Amino acid sequence: PLGVMDQIDIIARLRARPGLRLGIMGGAFDPIHIAHLVTAEEALLQFHLDEMLFMPAGNPPHKVRSLAPAEFRYLLVSVATASHPRFLVSRLEIDRDGLGYTVDTLEHMAAVLAPGTEMFFVTGADAVLDIITWKDPERVLELCTFIAATRPGCDLSRLAEVLEKLGPGLMGPGPEARVKVMEVPALAISSSMIRERLASGGAVRYLVPDSVAQLIEKHGAYGTAAPEPAAPGARLT
Ligand code: ATP
Ligand code: MG
Repeated sequence: PLGVMDQIDIIARLRARPGLRLGIMGGAFDPIHIAHLVTAEEALLQFHLDEMLFMPAGNPPHKVRSLAPAEFRYLLVSVATASHPRFLVSRLEIDRDGLGYTVDTLEHMAAVLAPGTEMFFVTGADAVLDIITWKDPERVLELCTFIAATRPGCDLSRLAEVLEKLGPGLMGPGPEARVKVMEVPALAISSSMIRERLASGGAVRYLVPDSVAQLIEKHGAYGTAAPEPAAPGARLT
């Protein structure tokens, strides 16, 4: 019930604002790290967005590896974004049964938000390449503008090539472009790197927010050693 209330509140808050420029950041967030946060903040600023909605995936079609429980990934995203007034977290994909295709998520959002809301889907430039394997790429590009985050100097020729096949002029700086490239400060951080470090007992301080590292450690997630249970009869003082 708490989850449902949470979702209703967020949608109501967003629906009440016609003309809203809404960023949506999808991903597994397994776990969320500071490159996600920096990218989201940069998109908010560079594209004058009003809100950034983080949308942790439930059961993404393109990840075969088994993910940490959705509820735990949601919790990590929530604590990581709690202090930012314009960062919100959606339960939409984790509460929905079945595969979470981006096009279905965007259709749902378009249906529940006020007419005239503009949606911007923020993703790494690498992930935009997956568009062609997603369900219904043409519709996806109708529903939202893509903000493709890249490191300065990154080679985007393959992305440009792939998009050219979908339709001319899709990528570029103009107002008609559906895919906009955004340079973010160089960050080689990825969730896989964080997971590897955690599993091998390495340090992740400053790579994930402190609150995220603390929750991971507290629950012994990602192969970290779970904390010793209290001895029988021990008192918390
Ligand atoms: P994994 O290593 O498991 O693939 P990830 O770090 O790529 O994880 P995801 O949850 O897959 O994280 O990514 C969510 C979104 O954030 C994707 O659009 C992804 O491209 C983007 N992203 C991830 N890492 C970075 C980064 N260092 N800089 C910019 N964008 C990133
Ligand atoms: Mg990834």
